[in-house]
Amino acid sequence: MIYLDYAATTPLDSRVFDAMLPYFTENFGNPSSTHRYGQKAEAAVETARETIAGILNCRPDELIFTSCGSESDNLALRGVALARRKQSGANRILTARAEHHAVSKTAERLEKEDGFQVEWLPLDEFGRVTAQAVEQALSADTALVSVMYSNNEIGTINPICQIAEICRKYAVPLHTDAVQAAAYLPVDVEALGVDLLSLGAHKFYGPKGIGALYIRKGTPIQSILTGGGQEFGLRAGTHNVPLIVGLAEALRLAHVERPQRVAHLLPLRDAIIATVQETIPDVRLTGHPTERVPNHASFVFKGVDGNLLINLLDAAGFACSSGSACKTGNPQPSEVLTSLGLPREWALGSLRVTLGLGTTSEDVQAFLQTLPEVVEKARELSVPR
Ligand SMILES: *Cc1c(COP(=O)(O)O)cnc(C)c1O
Repeated sequence: MIYLDYAATTPLDSRVFDAMLPYFTENFGNPSSTHRYGQKAEAAVETARETIAGILNCRPDELIFTSCGSESDNLALRGVALARRKQSGANRILTARAEHHAVSKTAERLEKEDGFQVEWLPLDEFGRVTAQAVEQALSADTALVSVMYSNNEIGTINPICQIAEICRKYAVPLHTDAVQAAAYLPVDVEALGVDLLSLGAHKFYGPKGIGALYIRKGTPIQSILTGGGQEFGLRAGTHNVPLIVGLAEALRLAHVERPQRVAHLLPLRDAIIATVQETIPDVRLTGHPTERVPNHASFVFKGVDGNLLINLLDAAGFACSSGSACKTGNPQPSEVLTSLGLPREWALGSLRVTLGLGTTSEDVQAFLQTLPEVVEKARELSVPR
């Protein structure tokens, strides 16, 4: 079996596992306790916070730990929207249909149940949100803008720096979901100019169930989880010390090994993008041809049932995805693909191939040899819908 679904999740790096281990067993203390068990655990949490802050180029007290990327997105949207409205009456949220559901569903809920007005930013043909689109939509009553750094389904990288410049001009906080991007793109919050940034460890060889949120000093935000005063009063709950240690070590490794990782992946990705388009009829690349994360290739095949294609590939020994992992089994075309203007008979036939540190060029060759016949078979078996 060859795993080509690294955008859904990555295996835990054994070096990260080793760093985490002692905090499951002998160093089990609660960081909120004042005795030495607590102090040791607290030191591990604060060291992890400093490591991450160094990579994000922020202050340690601008970073809080959460349970996952989704929770970071929820806190960013809900926490800032509610606090901004209280402070200034601003009640509009600008975001896009291409966002991960952790952002788009949260925005919908804020609209339905909390009286916010959500404006969906238009996308260009590559699935990008442009700075001009943000500038056109911004107004004095915008509470928050949320635009993802790179897209999990189509790999496209958004022009976050330019969007941040516009948001700064209008003094509106900008959140970016960097859960997918952090594996391969720099996450320097000063260079990006963002006010909030979400991370999730399992997308970059860290453990599942741990995330972080960067919150620029002075950004209005309120907690969405009530309880203890952990994380500067913004996120109640006893710290998950081993997972926090794992998040920091995984991000540190992603940061120091980034050049080698990118150099390994880029030629493999580009071989897939070129060969699939050469060898298979009625196929389109989705997302941007070059402004995309280095491990990500995504396509739509006309007249193919995407879920059937994934099952046939699985039977042939390849684990791929038809888009976001959360949508598997859903017969509706992805909102991301339909918002790019793709007709239904194309959008239903989506395939996402995402590579990782374990991917070899032999894996890629084997995949490229198998894919054309699998697509043909899927086309024959697909009932037009
Ligand atoms: C995976 C992912 C999330 C959700 O992160 P979890 O840690 O799985 O909750 C959010 N946004 C993007 C872009 C993702 O790829």
